[in-house]
Amino acid sequence: YPELEAEFTAIEGVDSVVRISKPFKLASREVKKEDTVIRVGPVQIGNGHLVVMAGPCSVDTEENVMQTARAVKAAGGHMLRGGAFKPRTSPYAFRGHGEKGLDILAEARAETGLPIVTEVVDARDVDLVARVADMLQIGSRNMQNFTLLDEVGKCKRPVLLKRGMWATVEQWLLAAEYMLSQGNPDVILCERGIVSHEPDTRFTFDVAAIPLAKRLSHLPVVGDPSHATGKWYLVEPVALAAVGAGADGLIIEVHPDPDHALSDGPQSLTPANFTKLMERVRAVAAAAGKPLHPPLA
Ligand code: PEP
Ligand code: MN
Repeated sequence: YPELEAEFTAIEGVDSVVRISKPFKLASREVKKEDTVIRVGPVQIGNGHLVVMAGPCSVDTEENVMQTARAVKAAGGHMLRGGAFKPRTSPYAFRGHGEKGLDILAEARAETGLPIVTEVVDARDVDLVARVADMLQIGSRNMQNFTLLDEVGKCKRPVLLKRGMWATVEQWLLAAEYMLSQGNPDVILCERGIVSHEPDTRFTFDVAAIPLAKRLSHLPVVGDPSHATGKWYLVEPVALAAVGAGADGLIIEVHPDPDHALSDGPQSLTPANFTKLMERVRAVAAAAGKPLHPPLA
């Protein structure tokens, strides 16, 4: 409507009129050209460096989590992940240690200095989880839980928004829009694979969604090769593909004893394999023009 544009421009006090053609407004590059940089303690996401978050799928024992946190830090990882509240496909599967799990994560942060990213599953738990989490995670299964999105949008913590396994890129950006429109500007998009007809790659890692989301939006985009593939030996190659495609970060599952992990053992890397992955990620990140974020002090 070019005629409306002229009308608005004529109003006193209007400096410029920007036409936004996308259904997501605040998340769009049309509104904000420059990349959004999100600070999580000493870590900056989206500033041209690659950030690596790693840790167990679910928080189990204090000893395992501490051991993992030390290994992640030693290998050059920047944040610790771990679920205290777990969304599970089956109601009979392990659903997390809850508050006790948050305490263990806080202890690991106190020792290593790694900021924590952990999932919030229920809108009623946002304040509870935000007391410990440096960054909240919204899981794939909750990407369109609009009550949860609104609640996290009112919260002052950065958010890692997993793409719904059934979601289009547009639906994913609209989910981010829920939080931006509630006043939380710090949303990081996470590609974690989408449903396809191939069971042996678990979910299909939509590698093109990374540069596409970065073109459509100013928000940082990270890749999750662990949930995409479901197999530890597919994690490194897919991680390297994500980095090559321009991801601003990776989130990777690591466990000291994958055979006995309470969830997602088959896709968890041992600390030794994570250390190997970091070496190759370092090389590909440099080649892709987004070198690894400096290690934490
Ligand atoms: C997780 O990060 O452990 C998780 C459950 O991921 P997703 O929501 O992507 O399945
Ligand atoms: Mn998991």
